[in-house]
Amino acid sequence: MIRKLLRKVFRRAADPVNNEPALVPVEQHGIRREQISPVARKVCTVLQENGHKAFVVGGAVRDLLVGHPPKDYDVATSATPEEVRALFRRSRIIGRRFKIVHVMSGPETIEVSTFRASQAAENAETDEHGRVLRDNVFGSQAEDATRRDFTVNALYYDPTTEQIVDYHHGVADLKQKTLRMIGDPRTRYREDPVRMLRAVRLGAKLGLTIDPAARQPIREMAVLLENVPAARLFDEMLKLLFSGYAVKCLKQLREEGLHHGLLPLLDVILEQPLGERFVWLSLENTDQRVRQDKPVSPGFLFATLLWHEVLANWEARKRDGEHSQPALFSAMDEVLDAQAGKLAITRRIVGDIKEIWALQPRFDRRSGKMPYRLIEQPRFRAAWDFLRLRAQSGEIPQELPAWWDEFAHAGHEAREAMLRAAPEAESPARKRRRKRRKPSESGADTATAHAS
Ligand code: ATP
Ligand code: MG
Repeated sequence: MIRKLLRKVFRRAADPVNNEPALVPVEQHGIRREQISPVARKVCTVLQENGHKAFVVGGAVRDLLVGHPPKDYDVATSATPEEVRALFRRSRIIGRRFKIVHVMSGPETIEVSTFRASQAAENAETDEHGRVLRDNVFGSQAEDATRRDFTVNALYYDPTTEQIVDYHHGVADLKQKTLRMIGDPRTRYREDPVRMLRAVRLGAKLGLTIDPAARQPIREMAVLLENVPAARLFDEMLKLLFSGYAVKCLKQLREEGLHHGLLPLLDVILEQPLGERFVWLSLENTDQRVRQDKPVSPGFLFATLLWHEVLANWEARKRDGEHSQPALFSAMDEVLDAQAGKLAITRRIVGDIKEIWALQPRFDRRSGKMPYRLIEQPRFRAAWDFLRLRAQSGEIPQELPAWWDEFAHAGHEAREAMLRAAPEAESPARKRRRKRRKPSESGADTATAHAS
């Protein structure tokens, strides 16, 4: 008990916990209160009017400083969750371990957290590798700043004074385009290995160079990611894949030596002997969509990541004499059974993936009533986007997605004419097999016929 106390006092003295932060005025940093979401502003002023400290903190301040539109807003306050909850009608307390409050207004949700103490690993409950399992003690604003990961993430913006409260020279680091860890990087990675992924993601997204002291240990410490729960890794990988800079992040992760077996999802992406071109095209496409603010879905992305495994499995089954349609469904199930658990893909995403895959063979049927039914499918658009990527990667002819695009937008007469003129989308081998089969089986599909 006494040893613990001594250590704490000692740490305080030795630790540059800046109790005297720099106050950066608006003339220097340039963020006007009008740039902050009105809801986040309101949350801060209501809290302040009730005698609490309240700031916009973290990613939003950082992003505004580099001219990126913030994704969402976090507010840090001296008020307890119960005090926050009492001040906002549309709010709810979430989290059992560490309570935070969601304040809702229109479509926006502001995450409000009470200042939290940094729990250095020596005082906190950790696993055998030093990973902090609990981090749930309220603290001062200075402590709250110190428990954050990077200096650029520990900036507190006060919409009332338009000042930034900067405990760790984050504004200067951002100006110098440096991503610097607060405290000793090795200790901070041990406390939470996910910080290594955050370093790579934030560096790529904001165009910051990871400070050598924070970059250098990643290679040897990456192995600690194995102890992080799969669901948390999956969430972090999703953030990375949908950051708008996935290609850059993934190349950087490869460079940092995140080798085989650490991140199952990374293995799937980086070790694609068959579908490499397709996967990178899909990632580039995702990056573009995110940056243009177009909708993206994990189901679509994972469908592309695993498609070439499904193709290989499906082809093997057909070679063994299985019929095309049941062979595809068995291939889908086998690939998903092997991957979904390992990657922590949720059931809902699995459903989306299957829908996109299952529609692919139907693009080969360009006669009768089937094309009309296909374009009415709710997932037609996603399935067509997928088809187009397949064509871009050279798996199928460019002509196929172009035909469907035209068909989907044409009038009735034109559609009929297109159906009469459509090339029969079958390989000669497939046709021979069909002729040998009973007529009732002849409607099966040939999505890969073009690949050969
Ligand atoms: P983005 O929202 O773009 O993903 P962000 O920095 O806002 O980036 P969040 O996950 O929203 O990321 O976290 C909000 C803030 O909480 C961060 O800016 C940082 O101060 C702190 N934080 C988040 N994750 C960690 C972590 N693993 N260790 C320490 N602090 C963290
Ligand atoms: Mg954020």
